[in-house]
Amino acid sequence: MIQPRVKAAIALGSNLGKSQQILQRALAQLSVVDGLVLKQISSFYHTRPIGPPQPDYVNACALLETQLSPLALLHCLQTVEQAFDRLRVERWGPRTLDLDLLLWGNQIIDQPDLQVPHPRMAERGFVLVPLAEVFAEAAQDWRHPVLGVAIADLLQP
Ligand code: AMP
Repeated sequence: MIQPRVKAAIALGSNLGKSQQILQRALAQLSVVDGLVLKQISSFYHTRPIGPPQPDYVNACALLETQLSPLALLHCLQTVEQAFDRLRVERWGPRTLDLDLLLWGNQIIDQPDLQVPHPRMAERGFVLVPLAEVFAEAAQDWRHPVLGVAIADLLQP
């Protein structure tokens, strides 16, 4: 059965290795996944890390249209992460590639291994800034499904 296409948003981050290249290659891998179309990619942002002392991050966001289920999309993101030998020694610690599913349509998902909207996205400038950029470029008025607030407004002090 052909599934309808759903809009989704993901965040990308890296602070180990050649981070810009890693993000570009991760996006290239995602662009050839069946049932997934990359619609918009933000600029790459250099951001200061939170957590233990570690190198700066390169962060970006992308808008997709997908026929994958939320869990299938998460598994796809995890497969791409593993392709870059993601190292996860400590929570909030450095990583070669981190891919998070931020939004999947307007759905609220609360499963043991998947929460959407991503529970920490609303307080993370390094997610909200690139996300607001892709929404502005795509002329999307997408509200945070839990908070009911436009993503750009979450950036306001
Ligand atoms: P992290 O180290 O922050 O990438 O967390 C990875 C873990 O978070 C995995 O075990 C995922 O199953 C879980 N997880 C829950 N919700 C999400 C989400 N929206 N996007 C990515 N990972 C998620």
